Amino acid sequence: MKKYVPSQQNRKTINQTMAGKLRLQVVDEAFKRQPVEVAVRRERPSEYFGKYVFNKQKMRKYLPSKAYKKMCEVIDNGAPFDRAIADEVAEGIKTWAIENGVTHYTHWFQPLTEGTAEKHDGFVEHDGKGGMVEEFEGKLLVQQEPDASSFPSGGIRSTFEARGYSAWDPTSPVFIIGDTLMIPTIFISYTGEALDYKVPLKKALYAVDKAATSVAQLFYPEVKKVVCNLGWEQEYFLVDESLFAARPDLVMTGRTLMGHDSAKNQQMDDHYFGSIPARVENYMRDIEIHALELGIPCKTRHNEVAPNQFELAPIYEETNLAVDHNMLLMGIMKRVARKHGFRCLLHEKPFKGVNGSGKHNNWSLATNTGVLLHAPGKTPLDNLRFVTFTVETLKAVLDHNGLLKASIMSASNAHRLGANEAPPAIISSFLGRTVTDLLEHVEKADEDAFKMRGKKSFKLDIPAIPELLIDNTDRNRTSPFAFTGNRFEFRAVGSEANCASAMLTLNTAVAEALTDFRERVDALIANGETKEKAILNVVREDIKYIKPIIFNGNGYGEEWKKEAARRGLDCETSAPLIFDRYLDEASIRMFERMKVMTRLELEARNEIKWETYTKKIQIESRIFGDMCLNHIIPVVTKYQSVLIDNVHKVMEIFADNPEKAKKISKENLYLIESISEHESFIIENVEKMIAERKAANAITSEREKAIAYHDNIAPLLEEIRYHVDKLEMIVDDEAWPLPKYRELLFIR
Ligand code: ADP
Ligand code: MG
Repeated sequence: MKKYVPSQQNRKTINQTMAGKLRLQVVDEAFKRQPVEVAVRRERPSEYFGKYVFNKQKMRKYLPSKAYKKMCEVIDNGAPFDRAIADEVAEGIKTWAIENGVTHYTHWFQPLTEGTAEKHDGFVEHDGKGGMVEEFEGKLLVQQEPDASSFPSGGIRSTFEARGYSAWDPTSPVFIIGDTLMIPTIFISYTGEALDYKVPLKKALYAVDKAATSVAQLFYPEVKKVVCNLGWEQEYFLVDESLFAARPDLVMTGRTLMGHDSAKNQQMDDHYFGSIPARVENYMRDIEIHALELGIPCKTRHNEVAPNQFELAPIYEETNLAVDHNMLLMGIMKRVARKHGFRCLLHEKPFKGVNGSGKHNNWSLATNTGVLLHAPGKTPLDNLRFVTFTVETLKAVLDHNGLLKASIMSASNAHRLGANEAPPAIISSFLGRTVTDLLEHVEKADEDAFKMRGKKSFKLDIPAIPELLIDNTDRNRTSPFAFTGNRFEFRAVGSEANCASAMLTLNTAVAEALTDFRERVDALIANGETKEKAILNVVREDIKYIKPIIFNGNGYGEEWKKEAARRGLDCETSAPLIFDRYLDEASIRMFERMKVMTRLELEARNEIKWETYTKKIQIESRIFGDMCLNHIIPVVTKYQSVLIDNVHKVMEIFADNPEKAKKISKENLYLIESISEHESFIIENVEKMIAERKAANAITSEREKAIAYHDNIAPLLEEIRYHVDKLEMIVDDEAWPLPKYRELLFIR
């Protein structure tokens, strides 16, 4: 080994491990932080629910009765909004808003970025006499033209045609946040293409209403409308704000790009449903108050599986409203967290080695007469309806399983799917024993069992399903699309996602299956078959057909991956390639036939998906490289110098016995060497990663670029991380600059 003499300068830096000391200080402060008091509310939640929402109750108070009635028609029955009443409605809203201290208004929309967009304008206008007056006209409520050239459009709107229109969605009520009136809107291009999530979602909901109503009428002729319900369950992590600030990766990307496992994480299963820490409970109470005031019907809160992981779920609502409420709530969760000294992490996988966060989408269809179409009933007719809707839903999921996976895929959710805790990157459905048996029975029962008896009712050899079933369905946490008694739970949705993406795809697919179903039944009836027999024939055919999508076993096993491939299910795991499913001919045909999206819109959206994917990995790779070179390597080098210094001194002391000196320094020499090895790997591969980025950035096709980022850059992050995490275990704790997992993950 080369003789090493520390210079004066080196001796000085060796003694300074400021970064590490600062970290320990921050950790200490976080440890001692006290809960922030939440203002106690005297009213009951039922009293302040919807306080800041211009709901029907307020419409009745603030609108002329004719306008009120028209608004009810729009909200309840989907009647078109009559622009003639726009001024009256705007006036009523303005009066209510000003009474609540509002000075500004904004159209609030969901562009194809991840969040929501808003631009506030004041109510004030010149009054023509040198003063000001508050004004808000109908045309401002109904339509605006945000100068929106920098929202993603996937090439639909070239920069010289920057106009996009936002138009009020009267089915989602306006609400107040702070001093601003928020007006939920859709967002479209000058030429009419959707530039947001809401337009196709609303079209998909219309399509599924039409198709499901037509099938429901086979059973209950009085049905006029079918509503799609969505109950989402939002999972999230909380991290102390000062620790968060000390992690550039969390600040920039929402997840930790390095960090060795904590000795204790979730292996004791002591966090799930555990008692909620006081600081967190206050935070939850605070968000619930805000949410209830905004009409979001929060109901459930609890600890999740991973340390610092929690869940919040409201009561389900009509899907369009539920989507708005989820977007709104995610914003509230982030904002309110600051007040409590937290940062709220909605990323699907903020920490390696512990569970990620999802957003289960509980989905069901209900008729205007109050029938849940996926709930078993008491009469044979009800049960045939149940079987029909369940089987046709599964047919939709089977036919478009790759597309449904694409609808929930993102750079961040990719970490969660297939990791050993979440649904695998294969879409299948769990039905449970009872329903699976029932379908088998329906499939096999012989023709005589279904003889007509009387006109209205007919005998079916379908066993009455015990009413208990609803509570009875076995839970299978590994299934991405599970039947849970009276609904399906789409579990693969990511915590950060806009639910609209999954909901519009699922509903369009189900609309298509139901439309086909009705056509096939009608064709049999036209051929002289009775209605009941026609339904049964088609259902039976489909029960045979859907078998590959039903999987009641353990979705985490390796065995299932092989089996799924044998069954012909989509097993692709690369996000950029999964996005291809949107452009399959079967997908385009479905979206166009159901009038939800055009080929052009689908192509544009895919450009955005690939571009977003690339940018996310690019940002991760850049900040990760910076952290390696500017945070980790310098600290590690300093620590290595300490060891070298020590070895050198030992050699000085035992100058007369070099063998003894070597023996004493054996461990340190080993550490010095392994530090060098890790360091070289890190430095070499960060350079390699930069070169790969350069090469990828030169690719012009968004798809090919995303593939390059997926194949050549994302894996390097993992490979390099391994060495950084090893170094974390070697270097003096006092010198380590980044808050460690054990510090980030356990709120007191
Ligand atoms: P879990 O045991 O899966 O956490 P919860 O009882 O907490 O179930 O419910 C989860 C969500 O499912 C809630 O938002 C709830 O309102 C919703 N939900 C219940 N029934 C339905 C239904 N028929 N359709 C849609 N969502 C539903
Ligand atoms: Mg659930």
